Amino acid sequence: MTVAIVGAGLTGSLLACFLARRGLPVTLYERRPDPRTGQAERGRSINLAISERGLDALRRIGLDGEVMADALPMKGRMIHPVEGPLDFQAYSASQDRAINSISRGALNNALLDAAEKAPGVEIVFEHKLVSLDSAAGVLGFETPAGLVELRADVVLGADGAGSAVRGQLVADGSVVDDVDFLDYGYKELSIPAADGKFALDPGALHIWPRGTSMMIALPNPDRSFTCTLFWPAGSFDALTTPLQIERYFGEHYPDLLPMAPSLVDDYLNNPVGVLGTVHTHPWQAHGRTALIGDAAHAIVPFYGQGANCAFEDVVALDRCLDDTGGSWARALPLFEARRRDNTEAIAEMALANFVEMRDKVASPVFRFGKQFEHAVERLLPGRYVSRYELVSFTTTPYADVRRRVRRQHQALGAAVALGLGAVVATTRALTRRSR
Ligand code: FAD
Repeated sequence: MTVAIVGAGLTGSLLACFLARRGLPVTLYERRPDPRTGQAERGRSINLAISERGLDALRRIGLDGEVMADALPMKGRMIHPVEGPLDFQAYSASQDRAINSISRGALNNALLDAAEKAPGVEIVFEHKLVSLDSAAGVLGFETPAGLVELRADVVLGADGAGSAVRGQLVADGSVVDDVDFLDYGYKELSIPAADGKFALDPGALHIWPRGTSMMIALPNPDRSFTCTLFWPAGSFDALTTPLQIERYFGEHYPDLLPMAPSLVDDYLNNPVGVLGTVHTHPWQAHGRTALIGDAAHAIVPFYGQGANCAFEDVVALDRCLDDTGGSWARALPLFEARRRDNTEAIAEMALANFVEMRDKVASPVFRFGKQFEHAVERLLPGRYVSRYELVSFTTTPYADVRRRVRRQHQALGAAVALGLGAVVATTRALTRRSR
């Protein structure tokens, strides 16, 4: 029994570690050169927020300590209005739970090291999948030495949102996919350390909500911040000269200018990334070829859950192999049956969170609503739990989170209506009595 994993990114390398624990011989094929020997790609999502779901998966292979050693906990959002003071909004009712900003590159490298050390795992770089016979398990790769053809009993596509494995499965009619591109692109900028110190509070995820667009910033271990602009597609092209860029940011992101000396260079030279939600059906073919992580169900990044969800996939697939006595033919359909609702739920919540982040967080009504929700959580511990808390600080399946939050909102709405009704009735009674 041989397993080929295509893509040695976050999902592929974690998956290799899990499968190695089952005693399976695994080969990881990655199109890039070994990232541990080279430089990170410019302007491509340098850091990411890892929360409970991701940590749960890392804990199972004993890697949480190493990954968390350099993590920067962010306990809430820091809102930067165009004018006026900053506003900190805690993520949890207890005010002390945090999501963790970590370096994507360092996480990937730690996972590659762990996979390389695991018995039975081989990692082959500079192998780009270009063809696949999904029924026979024959994989074709472009390599520096030319085209090579290899075989495997099981092929797992962990090759990201633009998955070549998915492309091959679509081409041979085994699956259909649908990519909902968002009408927004993203571009990274940086805020370096100032005199060796963080220029902003490193204990928060910073947000500059601007209605139809926004910027966020996450801290890095070297005391810099990586900012990501999320702007309507095409609007990046409107600024082409240093003067235009400085003027625009001076007007709309005035506190950024003094902290970002490389703003113009970053803006002009960093690429614009695309964002979208991938829907695929089914995720597997012939009981031997399957998609996992972003390759099956990439989502928009506004809940900070893409990698967390992909890590949860790995735990779920491992459990399916346990529950089917290691039968891939039964485990792969079971994996899809168990995960699909959950990945659809987080895809929907991630899209909804974009509107919240870029627009609602700035409003006093939203702020009051969050404070009220946290008060209810403290009043009814364990009985009312906010969506953010359930998504980020628990491993409650995403679909259950969606159902539970709907129920809670209905109950709270009914209670508020009852309370208001009682207040109105009491006021009327008192008014009548005083006449
Ligand atoms: P990828 O990370 O894309 O890895 C795929 C791997 O496959 C790569 O190494 C690639 O080189 C390789 N590959 C591709 N094609 C081939 C081929 N033909 N042959 C061989 N190898 C191939 N998630 C979070 O949890 N928290 C966050 O805060 C967060 N922030 C994000 C911010 C942005 C701007 C974006 C875009 C995403 C963010 N995400 C976040 C989502 C997260 O990045 C993804 O969910 C995660 O990277 C998915 O991992 P993956 O291994 O499935 O795919």
